[in-house]
Amino acid sequence: MKILALSDQVVEYLYSPLVKERFGDVALVVGCGDLPNYYLDYVVSMLNAPLSHVPGNHDLAPVSPDSEGDHEGRSNRAECGDIDGMVVEERGLLLAGLGGSIRYRPDGVHQYTQGEMARRVWALAPRLCWNRVRRGRFLDILVTHSPPRGIHDAEDPAHVGFEAFNRFITRFRPRYLLHGHSHVYRHGATTTTQVGPTTVINVFPYRVIEVDSVHV
Ligand SMILES: [Zn+2]
Repeated sequence: MKILALSDQVVEYLYSPLVKERFGDVALVVGCGDLPNYYLDYVVSMLNAPLSHVPGNHDLAPVSPDSEGDHEGRSNRAECGDIDGMVVEERGLLLAGLGGSIRYRPDGVHQYTQGEMARRVWALAPRLCWNRVRRGRFLDILVTHSPPRGIHDAEDPAHVGFEAFNRFITRFRPRYLLHGHSHVYRHGATTTTQVGPTTVINVFPYRVIEVDSVHV
């Protein structure tokens, strides 16, 4: 089954009717943060697929500035699909969500120190262990905004990755860690890294992932 993962940048091509022609077979949309709700709403409405997403570190307009009223009467799916700090099941996949970035401003929303993110990870542990007992695995996909430390991250204060995510994937062994936050414009930049059984993917600005149905 196919997952369409999005992050950080509105892609005009996806924010158009073309998305249905090109990605009509996508079973789940995953948002890795820093995206406006109107964009997520549009894509999941067009694909008629469920949405699971986490917040990034930037506040964004909840509705499109040029389409006021367009969303009236529709449910806001983006608000329903927020899995930040949660472990959920969607389309048979076990997902966990940890949004936000490293703290680089004292008053920043969805910003965490390394220690704060470590505590957020361990708050998920009981539910992950319950999955392991009941379903034979902790989870399938960890959805984050920031990358792990040393993988697709950078040294500037806003783009350092979380060490807690490195420990998470070593301990809980998801099949995928999907993240955004690292804007890649250089051709040939590394966007996929294998860490044991976990494929770490920078989805910026979008990526299609084919998930093995053995696990679904
Ligand atoms: Zn970000």
